[in-house]
Order: sequence, then structure tokens, then C-alpha cells
Amino acid sequence: SNIVAIVGRPNVGKSTFFNRLIQRREAIVDAVSGVTRDRHYGKTDWNGKEFSLIDTGGYVVGSDDIFEAEIDKQVELAIDEADAIIFMVDVESGVTGMDEDVANLLRRVDKPVFLVVNKVDNAKRAEDAVEFYALGLGEYYTVAGINGSGTGDLLDAVVAALPEKEEVEESELPRFAVVGRPNAGKSSFINALIGEDRYIVTDIAGTTRDAIDTKYNRFGFEFNLVDTAGIRRKSKVKEDLEFYSVMRSVRAIEHADVCLLVLDANRGFDGQVQNIFWLAERNRKGIVILVNKWDLVEKDHKSTKEYEKAIRKQIAPFTDVPIVFISAMTKQRIYKAIETAVEVYQNRTKKIKTSTLNEIFLPLIENYPPPAYKGKFVKIKYVMQLPTPQPQFAFFCNLPQYVKDPYKRFLENKLREHFDFTGVPVSVYMRKK
Ligand code: GDP
Repeated sequence: SNIVAIVGRPNVGKSTFFNRLIQRREAIVDAVSGVTRDRHYGKTDWNGKEFSLIDTGGYVVGSDDIFEAEIDKQVELAIDEADAIIFMVDVESGVTGMDEDVANLLRRVDKPVFLVVNKVDNAKRAEDAVEFYALGLGEYYTVAGINGSGTGDLLDAVVAALPEKEEVEESELPRFAVVGRPNAGKSSFINALIGEDRYIVTDIAGTTRDAIDTKYNRFGFEFNLVDTAGIRRKSKVKEDLEFYSVMRSVRAIEHADVCLLVLDANRGFDGQVQNIFWLAERNRKGIVILVNKWDLVEKDHKSTKEYEKAIRKQIAPFTDVPIVFISAMTKQRIYKAIETAVEVYQNRTKKIKTSTLNEIFLPLIENYPPPAYKGKFVKIKYVMQLPTPQPQFAFFCNLPQYVKDPYKRFLENKLREHFDFTGVPVSVYMRKK
């Protein structure tokens, strides 16, 4: 989906605005260690148009110099990656030098920029806001973070300015996205597969590379490998590289059928990897976990099992995910990784006949009916798979709202027992009959 970035000085109200639009649990927080700064992104929609919203910068401790450098970087990130930019300023403080600097950067941008004056909650302040014309960005919008007024008009304009069509070309072929943290070995993995150095792989974080899709044929099966290792700009700071890679991952995941989540065996399934995993899960994508650099791990007969167990603990309750131990360097199991991804793709596109489903589930539900709720009995009449790209099952019954999550999970587990949905999120819905 399209990306809208919010930029501006600290404390002008960016995060309040962000939180208003993104439900908390949907937001991914990218906490950069060592610096008091969070970056947030999440998905939302307005007028039926979906977009990802990114609050590129929070609060930085330090001198004004650091502030300025920091804000320049935010704006550069936004210019590089976003489809539209919201530049937020504060009517209380009026135009500041830093606002002028940001405006200077944004005036040269060939993307829709929305100047938003925050904290305009009375007529006097609405008058004061005119001084922001001085920034040379033209018309501005006024909002009041505390009560949300003005937000609707702003969003109408923002979504109207977003490109209708994705610039990513959608191919008919299944898309396997190779995602993960920088230096996990994504490019090395792809290089190993295609048997040539398509990408320059180096030890230096931030090597300039471009994201490329590679058409690939294996096991009589054609698909696109989507590389997210590409970093457009040489980044001065390591955190930025991380952030770029997460943003790349967001896009790649949204367009993928199956995500190959590459992690560095020495670093493990850490917070950032977990973010990417849950992002893929929430987007209902197929997932294969590739534990790379396995050649570097000192092994005994139980290393693999223990490593696997630790990962499954982190991804509970969605534990039905294949984990393949690979080495992009020695090419160990790299074809196994692809074979597994193909299987996951097939699981994800699998369609189960309504008659088969009902033959299995009606007797089962009769033996294990949903628990009565407030003295009422739920009767499930029949089951069918919905015609969606990913597995979704509707259970038709008299009182859908009385069926709670534990029972839905029970049904999901039974679906997984009877049909192979390894690596694929399965959705169970209760529908009114
Ligand atoms: P990317 O940022 O995820 O694309 O990571 P790269 O492919 O650039 O790899 C980062 C570093 O890890 C490079 O120095 C690679 O040579 C090294 N590397 C990648 N895969 C392996 C592996 O399987 N084993 C070992 N020992 N090193 C690896």
C-alpha cells in the first residue's frame, strides 16, 4: 500500500496524530537502542483507501545540533520512501528556524506535501496560523490534536493525492519475498540460488544496492524472488539502515505470497525479526523461517532441535511454521528452503471442498460443541472455505457472537490436523446462518 510519512520537529504533536489514526496494537514500534527515539508505523484506511502511516521520528536527547541532523534524516527518509508527506508544525511556537529548514528540503520534493498546523483549537489560533504561509509551501491545513478536529479534511486531501495504482508491478507469478534484518544474509542467499553475483555482498553495512525481483524456476515451478536487501542510499548511521530495511520489508511483505524470513543464526530470533514475522502473519502471508549462517554454529546432535524449540516458543500460538537451517555460504539446504516455500505457497492456495469440510467438521462439532454462553447454545450448521487468496473458513451458526477465541482456535487446530496448512495463517470466522 501507499506510504504516508509524518515529519516535523519534536513535540509538535506527530505521535498524537499518529495514535489517533493507528490502533495501538497495530503499530510496530522500532525502538532504536541507545537513543530515546521510537519510530512507529502502522496501517490505516480513509475513504476506503488503505495506506501505511509512518511517524519517522520521536524524541532525541541531545543538543540542538543533533536535533537538526536528526530531522534532516527523517525528511530524507520520508522523501525517499513515502508517497506523500505530512509536515507538521505548531501554532503555539510559530515558525521556527527548524521549520524553515524542513520547508527548504520539502519545497524541492516532487511528491505531495501537506503542511499541517497543529494545536489550532480556537479562532485566535486559526488567525495566527497564517504566518505559516511564510514557509512557501502554499495552502496549509489546521488540526487540533487534542480533539481531532480538522483531521477529516486533511485525510480527504491526503488520500486523494495518493497514486491510484501501485507502482510495484504485480506479476501473475507467485511472489516469494526474502525479508529480514540487514546482514542476515538475504543477498547471499539469493546469490547462492541464482548462482551469480547479482548483488555486491560486503561486510560493510549500507552498501548501495537496489531491490530487484528475480524470476526463478525450480521444481517445475516459476516464481519471483523479491529481494529487500536493496538500500538506495549510503546511510551514515546503522539505525537508519535497519529502518530502511524494515520499511522495505513492509512493502515487500504486502506484495508477497510467501515470506522467506532470513535470520542470522548467531543473532537469533530477536525483536526486529519478531516484528517482521508478526507483520507477515498479520498480513496473512505464508511464512518460512530460514536460520542462516548455520555453518558458523558449533553443533552437537541436539543443536537444531533446541534452536527450533526456542523459535517456536517465540512465535506461539502460530507454531505451525517451517524452519529450515541453511548456509548461504556453503549452499547447505538452500534448495530445501525454496522447496519448502513452494509447499507453503501450495498450502496457502489450497481449496477444500465444502462436502469434505462438513463430513469432517459436523460430527466433530457435535462431539465438541462450543460452550454454552449465558445459557444459550450455539448450533453450527455448516462450514465452507471462502474464495479468498488465503485460507479463510466460515462456520455458519445461530449465535456467532457467542463463539469465543478459544473455540475458534480449537477449530483452527482441527483444520490444521486434517489439512496441511503448514506455514500459513488460517482465519476462522463465525457467520450468522
Ligand atoms: P543482507 O544484508 O541480508 O543481504 O546480508 P548479506 O547477504 O549482505 O550478508 C551479510 C554478511 O554475512 C556478508 O559478509 C556475508 O558474506 C555473510 N554471510 C551471509 N550468509 C552467510 C552464511 O551462510 N555463512 C556465513 N559464514 N556468512 C554468511
